[in-house]
Amino acid sequence: MSAQLPDISRRRFIVSASLAATAVCVVPHRVFGGEESLVLASRKAGETANITVQALRGNISALIGSGGNIAVLPGGDGKLIIDSGFLGTRGKISAALSSLSPDPIKHLINTHWHFDHTDGNEWMHSAGATITAHENTRKHLSTATRVEDWNFTFPALPAGAIPTDVFNADKTLHLNGATIALKHYEPAHTDGDISIYFTETDVLHTGDTWWNGYYPFIDYSTGGSLNGMIKAAEANLAMVTDKTIVVPGHGPIGGKKEMIEFRDVLTTIRNRVVALKKEGESLNEIVAAKPTAAYDAKWGSGFVNGEFFTKLVYKGVG
Ligand SMILES: [Zn+2]
Repeated sequence: MSAQLPDISRRRFIVSASLAATAVCVVPHRVFGGEESLVLASRKAGETANITVQALRGNISALIGSGGNIAVLPGGDGKLIIDSGFLGTRGKISAALSSLSPDPIKHLINTHWHFDHTDGNEWMHSAGATITAHENTRKHLSTATRVEDWNFTFPALPAGAIPTDVFNADKTLHLNGATIALKHYEPAHTDGDISIYFTETDVLHTGDTWWNGYYPFIDYSTGGSLNGMIKAAEANLAMVTDKTIVVPGHGPIGGKKEMIEFRDVLTTIRNRVVALKKEGESLNEIVAAKPTAAYDAKWGSGFVNGEFFTKLVYKGVG
C-alpha cells in the first residue's frame, strides 16, 4: 500500500513541473489509467497555474496557462472571450482580464465542450457573459458525458454554464468593431468544434483542431474522427496566409508554418499505421513498432504521448 504513495506524489510533481516548464496545461500520459484521472490531475494543476498574457494584434490578446488557450477582444461592447479555462485559475484569469481593460465581460465563445475550455463558463456567465457555441457543445454540456479515454464521466453543467446562443453551421458576429467568423468543422476533435476568425486583424483561434507542437487528443466518445482532424488541419491551412496569427487550442501561438508541420505529422503517422494494419499487425504489434518514434521528442511530451497517439490513430483508421 505505502509503496504506491511515492508514485502518486511523483505524478503530481510531474504535472506541476510540466506546467512550470511550458506554461501550457499539458499533463503526462502516465496519469492515464491510474487511480488519478487525467481530468482531476489537470484541474488540480490549474489551481496553481500561472497566466501569461500575450498581445497578438488589433487589441486581441491571448491568455495562456489554464487549460485551452484563451483569446480576448475588449471594447465598447464588453469583453469577448474565447474559452474559459479551469475554475481553479479564476483569480488569475480575472486579474489578467482586468489588466487588459475595464470593459465588463459580456461574451464568451466555447470552441468545443471539453472541460479545459469550459470549466470557467459558470463564473464568466455570472460576471455577465452570454455563451455562444455549436449546438453539439451545448448538447454535451447539458447531459452527463463519459470520455472513456479519460476514465471520467462529466456531469451536466449547471444552467448558467450552458451556452444559450447556439448555431449549427457557421455564424458571424459584429462586436467591438470586429467581424468575427465562427466556422463549424465536420467531426474532428469532437463533433462540435468551431474556429473563430477575426477578419480585419487576421487572427484565428482554431480551438483543439490544432495543437501546436503536441499530438492532439481525438475524442471518439463525442464524435471525434482522425480523418476529420486531418481535414480540419487542411481547412485551417486554407484559411491562413503567412501573416495570419493563429492561436492553437494548446501550445504556443503560431502560424501557417507550424500548421503545415502538424498536418504532415498527422498524415504521416496515419499512413504508417494504415500500412502496418494492412500487413495484418495487431494493435500491440503496431504500438511496439513505434510508428511515431521520429516525432515523439518534439510532439509527445504533452497530454498525448507517442504510444497513446498511436492507439488513437489505430482506433481512427477503421
Ligand atoms: Zn479538447
